[in-house]
Amino acid sequence: MHQLDDCIFCQIAQGNAPAYKIHEDELTLTFLDIFPATAGHLLIITKEHFTDIFEARPEALARVASNSVLMTKALEKVIAPDGLGIYQFNRACAGQTVFHYHMHLIPQFEGKDIGIHSKQAGDPEQLAAMAEQLKAAIQ
Ligand SMILES: [Zn+2]
Repeated sequence: MHQLDDCIFCQIAQGNAPAYKIHEDELTLTFLDIFPATAGHLLIITKEHFTDIFEARPEALARVASNSVLMTKALEKVIAPDGLGIYQFNRACAGQTVFHYHMHLIPQFEGKDIGIHSKQAGDPEQLAAMAEQLKAAIQ
C-alpha cells in the first residue's frame, strides 16, 4: 500500500501518530478532527495515500462513502444534530489543507453558522469521550 512518511494522515493510518479513532477497516480509518468545527466533527480517510480524488482508487472511495452512512447513524445516536454537512476538498484552490484524501462529516445545528476548520484545538478529554461514544454507537 502506497503511504508517505511525511504525511500526517499516513502516519495516523500506520498507527505512528495519535488520533481519536472511531472506526477502522482494511481500506479506511475514521477519527475525530482535532480542530473540530463542532462536537462530533470527524474525518474518514483512505489508508492508502491518495493526494486527492484525482488519483484515488474508486474501491477505496466507495468504502469511504459506505462508512459515511455508518457514521451518520452513530452521529444521530450520540449527537442528534439538526443537519450534517459532508465536505470533501481537492487541491488547494478548492480548500484542501491536508493533501491526503479525506472526507469531513460535520454536525450542524439550527441557528449556528459552523465553518469547516476551527482555529482552536478541541479539548483532549472531550475528544476522547466523544470518540468512545461514537465507537460504541456503531457496534
Ligand atoms: Zn498520506
